[in-house]
Amino acid sequence: MLEDLNQLIRLQRIDDQLMEIEAEKGDLPEQINNLSQEINKYNSEIEDAGLKLKGIEEKKLEQERRVDEAHDQLRKSQSVIFSVKTTREYDAISSEIDQAKSSVTEGEKQILEFMANEEELQTIISECHEKISTLEAELSERQAEMQERMESSQEEELKLMHEREKIIVRLKKPVYAHYERIRKIRDGVGVSHISDGACGYCFSMIPPQRQVEVKRMEDMILCEVCGCILVPELESTVR
Ligand SMILES: [Zn+2]
Repeated sequence: MLEDLNQLIRLQRIDDQLMEIEAEKGDLPEQINNLSQEINKYNSEIEDAGLKLKGIEEKKLEQERRVDEAHDQLRKSQSVIFSVKTTREYDAISSEIDQAKSSVTEGEKQILEFMANEEELQTIISECHEKISTLEAELSERQAEMQERMESSQEEELKLMHEREKIIVRLKKPVYAHYERIRKIRDGVGVSHISDGACGYCFSMIPPQRQVEVKRMEDMILCEVCGCILVPELESTVR
């Protein structure tokens, strides 16, 4: 077990350094993610508005066609109304005229409504485009910043990752699995050095007998409170 524990101590040290590198990137990855999501949101708003616009355009064309037809009908009726012979015919034609007139009025009213709708949608679209270009400018700024920070730490990160891999292949699988499981729920800490007789992570006291066992490094001993793998005081293990 001694070898495994020594490897775990080294692994924890490497992971601490990797976490530091990650922390130096700050909330840039999150900012970049949020900006991209916002851009996507506006893009889909544009898409939605575009589809609605297309639908309205079709309805407007249909309405324009109907108004044209009503105009034709009106002209036809008006051209024959003075040549009718009977009152009945006159009444029929004049009712046709009235109908055509109201079709024109109603149709034109609808066309105006469609145009107002179109204008609204076009405003939405251009507003979205404006927002997107602002967001995109910010995004590329953040990305450049991120790139810069990554480049400066990349070499270090790669080196650490490589060392990490080398340690993992040497560790027993269940030991590594426990380390990772605890690390996930304990802010990146899987291995805890005893410090002043307490667990270095959760500060709960370790009974003296256990401390002795931990010091021997013959078994994997877990903190009963937080589950961290306990190892001797930091000073005694630094190599
Ligand atoms: Zn603990």
